[in-house]
Amino acid sequence: MQIQENMSLMEKLQILSDAAKYDVACTSSGVDRSGNGRGMGNCIAPGICHTFSGDGRCVSLLKILFTNECIFNCSYCLNNCNNDIPRASFTPDEVCTLTMEFYRRNYIEGLFLSSGILKNPNYTMDLIYQTLYKLRVECGFNGYIHVKAIPGADPVLIEKTGFLADRMSINLELPTAEALKKLAPYKSRSTILKPMRQIQNGISNQALLLSDYKQKQPLRVQTKEFKQFVPAGQSTQMIIGATPENDFQIMSVAESLYRNFSLKRVFYSAFVNVNQNSDLPVLPGGPPLLREHRLYQADWLLRYYHFSVDELLSEDNPNFNVYLDPKCDWALRHLEYFPVEINRASYQTLLRVPGIGAKSASRIVKARRSAKLNFTDLKKIGVVLKRALYFITCSGKMMYPTKLDADYICENLLRDQTQIPKEIRNSGYEQISLFDVGMKESSRQISST
Ligand code: SF4
Repeated sequence: MQIQENMSLMEKLQILSDAAKYDVACTSSGVDRSGNGRGMGNCIAPGICHTFSGDGRCVSLLKILFTNECIFNCSYCLNNCNNDIPRASFTPDEVCTLTMEFYRRNYIEGLFLSSGILKNPNYTMDLIYQTLYKLRVECGFNGYIHVKAIPGADPVLIEKTGFLADRMSINLELPTAEALKKLAPYKSRSTILKPMRQIQNGISNQALLLSDYKQKQPLRVQTKEFKQFVPAGQSTQMIIGATPENDFQIMSVAESLYRNFSLKRVFYSAFVNVNQNSDLPVLPGGPPLLREHRLYQADWLLRYYHFSVDELLSEDNPNFNVYLDPKCDWALRHLEYFPVEINRASYQTLLRVPGIGAKSASRIVKARRSAKLNFTDLKKIGVVLKRALYFITCSGKMMYPTKLDADYICENLLRDQTQIPKEIRNSGYEQISLFDVGMKESSRQISST
């Protein structure tokens, strides 16, 4: 382990932003919080991910580790204690300086703070708490903060931190307890699920208190004065492809997390083989990005399209079709439900049509109240007709004479190049670095302040 003394802030930032790039932090659901007139910054509910890197990762957060020193030896992790890599740790004041200075320069809209385990879980969680306390109370930072809860940390520390953060997450890391035991022997399902449950209970208790508080307080002093606990909800992350679980197992775990722990998001992170460890698979084709993409598509279907995992996959068909998105794949296996008549179908039925999203389905239901819709109307509404045309009729007619035959439709859908995203089709895998996005100069300025 290389621990360098007297490292500059710039050097630490280089190490600790690079070390954080394997944490997924894209956030499509944030929290509404206007400026409080005293501190700096605000939050909006649609989230803060305005830009994505070529490989789909969000770059609008200052994404750093508090430290990449770690007492644990998770085999898949670059920061594991057996690796001989440069190590660094911030102080709470340094994280505050970086966050405030980047925020002032409009480079970031929030902070994502994760960490290795320094000394022990409580010691690390306390440092994270101190950082958030300084940022919120002493610096008056009112922007978005996503912070990791450290498995095994004292529940009191997690609770105190939860009142300062917008989102908290605890990584499930791997889909099964056996996989965790094999690759992350110092972690266990119980040390991960216990704080997850604590955060879930904290959020739901707060929701009850808040509604009670709103009823008793006059409008103008409502939510601004009310200390909220993890108002943007909690999320988790699973590594995909480091262990042999199939998509059915992974999506079943995700579904159960949404149902039983009220998670806001499950993130899927394609395994990047950064360590030469015999327990880890060799992936000649690089990280399984297409698989990761299909899992995200399916996750979307669970959360917004009322699909269940059992409808998409089964023991006999345990992996997603790499060539087709999960909704098209489902539709081709259930042609008995099609074609759907646009002017009569329920909202729920419309949601199941490839090429019709949640917004388009709502618009269709609204628009057809005043007139019967035709294919030109659907195009204006935003329906992706090149995908939907095989599955719908307007006033009993299809767009073109076409066969309702799985092979025929599949062949035509595959001509639609959007079935496999351009970034995955054309490029290899490249992790983006904070220093790739034009912040090098500013980082230097900050480090010298
Ligand atoms: S605890 Fe976290 S930082 Fe430490 S080795 Fe495991 S995954 Fe890496």
